[in-house]
Amino acid sequence: MIFDSANAHLVPLAGRAMLLHVPTTALFELDELGMEVLRLVQADRSLDAERIRARLSSRFAGEAVGALIEQLIRLQVLRPEGESRPINPSYVHVEAYPLSTIVLNVNTGCNLACRYCYKEDLDVPVAGRRMGFDVAARSVDMLFSQGQERRRLGIVFFGGEPLSNMPLIRQVVDYAEARANGLGKTVDFSLTTNATLLTEELIGYFDAHRFGLSVSIDGPRVVHDRNRLTVGGRGTYEVVARKARLLLGRYRSKPVGARVTLTAGTTEVEAIHEHLRDRLGFHEVGYAPVTAAEGAGHALSEEELTEVYAGFERLGGQYLTAALAGANTGFSNLHQLMTDLHEGRRKTLPCGAGVGLLAVDHQGGLNLCHRFTGSELPTFGSVEQGIAAERLGAFLERAADRSGTHCATCHIRNLCAGGCYHESWIRYGDPHHRTYHYCNLLRRWVDFGIRVYADINARNPKFFSAHIESRRAA
Ligand code: SF4
Ligand code: SF4
Repeated sequence: MIFDSANAHLVPLAGRAMLLHVPTTALFELDELGMEVLRLVQADRSLDAERIRARLSSRFAGEAVGALIEQLIRLQVLRPEGESRPINPSYVHVEAYPLSTIVLNVNTGCNLACRYCYKEDLDVPVAGRRMGFDVAARSVDMLFSQGQERRRLGIVFFGGEPLSNMPLIRQVVDYAEARANGLGKTVDFSLTTNATLLTEELIGYFDAHRFGLSVSIDGPRVVHDRNRLTVGGRGTYEVVARKARLLLGRYRSKPVGARVTLTAGTTEVEAIHEHLRDRLGFHEVGYAPVTAAEGAGHALSEEELTEVYAGFERLGGQYLTAALAGANTGFSNLHQLMTDLHEGRRKTLPCGAGVGLLAVDHQGGLNLCHRFTGSELPTFGSVEQGIAAERLGAFLERAADRSGTHCATCHIRNLCAGGCYHESWIRYGDPHHRTYHYCNLLRRWVDFGIRVYADINARNPKFFSAHIESRRAA
């Protein structure tokens, strides 16, 4: 009997073990019989069901052992020796693009000049190319027609710095709200800002329209000012922290998050978390480790990335302690993994780019996501001519096809699904290349998440209803 490691993954815990059923992303806690059967099979693949039953006969009823083995064979966790693995193709045919979100690049200009900025269409403030209302209105129309089956739709304002084109944002909000009201739908607005242009009046406006807001801030002054600079080269911590305090003190409609970019020389995630959560008061903090640009000055080295994930595990320890007491420390990366595991999420594609989400550049071109606007990857149609369905379909079908890749047998394939297209685009010049450069760290991170999940589930399962299910419902 063969334990099929492409379909099942064991995560040992103190005195017990969790089994990740890879095809469905379901998690099972193994009982004593389950652990014994899998231990025997892993030690000796020549054992068949009869011999496993005989080996365990002094402790377990033969019927129970037989029933379990049958169940594990049905789940494709076990396979009689000599039988080949059934082929589970990951091929998908994409026929519809039920958009739920559009990202509008309202201005390519930004008033900062962060050292690590990846935006290929970024301009200094005076040269910023602004989206006109005609392009924005067509984008909103496309969202409503492609997303007609959905009750909630999302519009994300992006840049450059989105606050540098507030007149357009206000026009789009009015237009989209009027359309949504007429159709009985809800539109959620959101944006990520460097915060420098925030005012009391703007905070009140965003609050009134229930914007989801995130602030790009990298941590305490010494960390933030390494990279987040004005066009003239000065650190921006002081103004960003002041504006963030103003925002956090007044904003009521939604929790406000901080977005941290981790680049070369920045691995101190615990100190960053402490500063942003406890000193400034952000509700949640999400970390984006830059792994993509091998050899580029700002990419984390392999050692640094390992250090970052070790820090994530320590932050995860704090998350676990708080979760057992019913609280959420706001560590977004781990909370997202808890959500994926709790909901048994099964990804065929790494993200919604191109399916649920498209990004519109200032001229109306349709891009996979906000990171691709201005890149050399050809666009997938325009708001004027519509989605280039054949090309986009072919792109997505190729992304979903795992044949010939390591992902085909990877046990986290339905959680990772090959990694971010943009990281691969930057690192390998091919958005379909898989993000192989940190697979081991990702697998270890998922194992860590499964242990945290199992612990919370055993000791305070109400945490999930309070901090995951209630949020979904909202
Ligand atoms: S990119 Fe790596 S970690 Fe992700 S599914 Fe593929 S092989 Fe697994
Ligand atoms: S391609 Fe990458 S950056 Fe773009 S939405 Fe997907 S995961 Fe995010």
